[in-house]
Amino acid sequence: MFDSMTSATGPADVLTAAFALALVANLLVKFWLASRQIRHVAQHRNSVPEAFARTITLDAHQKAADYTIAKTRFGLLELALGAVVLLGWTLLGGLDLLNHLLLQWLGGGMWQQLALVAAFVAIGGLIELPVTLYQTFVIEQRFGFNKMSWQLWLGDLVKSVALGTIIGLPILAVILWLMGAAGRLWWLWAWCTWMGFNLLLLMVYPTLIAPLFNKFKPLEDETLKTRVTQLMQRCGFASKGLFVMDGSKRSAHANAYFTGFGAAKRVVFYDTLLARLSPAQVDAVLAHELGHFKYKHILQRILTLFGVSLLGFALLGWLSGQAWFYFGLGVRPNLAGVTGVAAPNDALALLLFLMIVPTFSFFVSPLSALMSRKHEFQADAYACAQTSGVDLSAALLKLYEDNASTLTPDPVFVKFYYSHPPASERLARMQAGLSVAT
Ligand SMILES: [Zn+2]
Repeated sequence: MFDSMTSATGPADVLTAAFALALVANLLVKFWLASRQIRHVAQHRNSVPEAFARTITLDAHQKAADYTIAKTRFGLLELALGAVVLLGWTLLGGLDLLNHLLLQWLGGGMWQQLALVAAFVAIGGLIELPVTLYQTFVIEQRFGFNKMSWQLWLGDLVKSVALGTIIGLPILAVILWLMGAAGRLWWLWAWCTWMGFNLLLLMVYPTLIAPLFNKFKPLEDETLKTRVTQLMQRCGFASKGLFVMDGSKRSAHANAYFTGFGAAKRVVFYDTLLARLSPAQVDAVLAHELGHFKYKHILQRILTLFGVSLLGFALLGWLSGQAWFYFGLGVRPNLAGVTGVAAPNDALALLLFLMIVPTFSFFVSPLSALMSRKHEFQADAYACAQTSGVDLSAALLKLYEDNASTLTPDPVFVKFYYSHPPASERLARMQAGLSVAT
């Protein structure tokens, strides 16, 4: 089962040290970034940037600053909690303990492995519960964004747990079975299965899953419908319908998106978006989304996901066969010589891998954020060409204001975390485009 049982201690120590170091570096960088952001936003709280002086009130600007600071501060607390939980599961022996309790109770086998993952997810969810509650019912509430009642929140929770169990457990069982039974190249088969499962989920999400949480009604406003249909024809875009979603049921944040595949694509507008924007502005926002399709950003994202997960599965395929991978992260693998129980280690490997990967991958996140911001500029340019830059600017400003997004983020924070360029940069680009055009 293992390539190198005897020489486990040396590499295990190296892994422990590398993991601890990466975790500390993670915390330091993230704390530094958050404190930069808080300081920068607070410093610019008392005056609206000149470019927005005529369009954004001081009140709205200060609300955005306070919201950003409140969220970032709370993020620091979450960060600390996350690090403690991660250490608790790994080096402090939490996962090892859970594994052994379940081994004693269920013996080694598929049920024990499924129970291990389920218990891990349930315990993690319980620890995170107060965090989510505070975010929704304190922070979002204080700034007037939360529209959820306790009943709705509980209903969502029950539905999500039920869905996770019905959909998640079978696919987990298949992957664990492949890990144990498909030989050396199991990771290739598991990857194919996982990708097929993801595609299937993307296909059934709009018609089977999303309606469990929201109501979707066909867009009724005839003027808007005609406009939007014309725009889509102009851009050569086929779709299976325009829908309005009752986003206002949960939150005042506004959005629009596409779901589905090929000709089954649907356009979904949040009711909150339609309530705030004029038909011409809705058109401009939609044209931006169409831009993402025209430039094949969605396809690129899906292909990147495929490539990265293939790498991930290959790496897991190798690591799961190394005893030091378990010892180095605070877990004794299920081996007759180690714990007296010879049982599959696949669930352990999977959990350890998923837990530690974000600690290392954080350091490449500026790259993917950069790519994403580039795509946003391209989609903006497309929207300006297909509709009007004036409408898109006005729509974006309203959305930034309604979502209380700060107009003065810290530039370094932006480089690490922002998938969308700050409003100032987007509007400046659009204005430059407009002045060239006129
Ligand atoms: Zn976009």
